[in-house]
Amino acid sequence: PFDVLVVGGGPAGAAAAIYAARKGIRTGVVAERFGGQVLDTMGIENFISVSHTEGPKLAAQLEQHVKDYDVDVMNLQKATALKPANGDGFATVELESGAALKAKTVILSTGARWRQMGVPGEDEYRNKGVAYCPHCDGPLFKGKRTAVIGGGNSGVEAAIDLAGIVAHVTLIEFDSQLRADAVLQAKLRSLPNVTIVTSALTTEVLGNGEKVTGLRYRDRTTEAEHVVELEGIFVQIGLVPNTEWLNGSIALSNRGEIEIDARGETSLPGVFAAGDATTVPYKQIVIAMGEGSKAALSAFDYLIRH
Ligand code: FAD
Repeated sequence: PFDVLVVGGGPAGAAAAIYAARKGIRTGVVAERFGGQVLDTMGIENFISVSHTEGPKLAAQLEQHVKDYDVDVMNLQKATALKPANGDGFATVELESGAALKAKTVILSTGARWRQMGVPGEDEYRNKGVAYCPHCDGPLFKGKRTAVIGGGNSGVEAAIDLAGIVAHVTLIEFDSQLRADAVLQAKLRSLPNVTIVTSALTTEVLGNGEKVTGLRYRDRTTEAEHVVELEGIFVQIGLVPNTEWLNGSIALSNRGEIEIDARGETSLPGVFAAGDATTVPYKQIVIAMGEGSKAALSAFDYLIRH
């Protein structure tokens, strides 16, 4: 059995594993895909102290750093259930392979995924104009024309953020009205370089084979098709935590995020969580790493008291 079993091998899980292993305790990491979202990222320019890196390079460095320590890395393994400790003091993590792992403490760091539009061109032009993270990729579109898809809080926040950097923002919302908080909507409407389009269904990402050149949408009231010429599209229709496998075993927010306290502890004693899968505000690499480190220190603190 493990002292600390980390589920998830993204920045949060890697940081948790390193911090745990450095305490000299038996540490394991189960990951469906070691590296996580970082593997799907091109340029990274906000990983503090590193001016520029690439996702696959950072993912390889995360794995190397973990392997510098005595950590049992179980890659390409999907966790399917978490069973709380029942008297023996060991929680159980069940895997798709049929195996079951026992651990005194568990750190959940299964991350999240951006909901996609599912329209032609979206996959082809991902990282070539189609983006999901305004904090990450906003500055790449300085002085260019962009669209934000989605008029909820995250979409409207993204549009306000981008309006300060890019030349023009077209916000596209499927519903007949924006769903963001009134104060955000008022701020958005006060900006001179923002156009708001409601009742619009994005139907296609247009490109020239190399990068995005525009998008096509259908006006849902008139059925008319329109094309907007632009260089960037930020998709803000939801970030979905990878927590379906935890349903029923642990407290989740109404968005499916794992509820944690200031020390990263969940509703189950001895079970901690970190990163994009949790209620932590702002989903970023440096934040996930800090949260993973914190969860590991909390797990260690739990172990020395039990
Ligand atoms: P993740 O990176 O999502 O890792 C989750 C891990 O859990 C993976 O190993 C996954 O395989 C595993 N997992 C999931 N479910 C299971 C399961 N059931 N069983 C076992 N393992 C499981 N952030 C920045 O700071 N700067 C950027 O420039 C930046 N650009 C981005 C660009 C893109 C295209 C995307 C998608 C994200 C970007 N982000 C960026 C966000 C950043 O990648 C995330 O905030 C960060 O990776 C979160 O780390 P995490 O460890 O919490 O989760």
